[in-house]
Amino acid sequence: MQANHNKGVGASPTRHTNFSVSEGKIMFEDKTLVCKECGEEFIFTAGEQEFYAEKGFENEPQRCKPCRDARKKAAREGRELFTATCAACGGEAKIPFQPSEDRPVYCSECFAKMKEAE
Ligand SMILES: [Zn+2]
Ligand SMILES: [Zn+2]
Repeated sequence: MQANHNKGVGASPTRHTNFSVSEGKIMFEDKTLVCKECGEEFIFTAGEQEFYAEKGFENEPQRCKPCRDARKKAAREGRELFTATCAACGGEAKIPFQPSEDRPVYCSECFAKMKEAE
């Protein structure tokens, strides 16, 4: 039996965060997760993990920050999509996240095709 639990912890013994405890202080480490929305890897930063732990969230974020922001925004304003140029067909791509230059964007058709091809 481990008797090293601090008071206030213990509501959820199986948490999937990757922190280590040093001198009573929880040290989080950046972690790479894959966004469920756009399939890109993103960093679940130490600071965010700390925030999640403080709030008692048990689930890791499922989406990268741009996707989360886009969803939050969409929830607030109804439905808003970003317009970008599809890297495969050059057509207009409507995406739920802010396009970034170092990441190719595909329209839903090409995205679906790529998924099938995988
Ligand atoms: Zn994403
Ligand atoms: Zn396309």
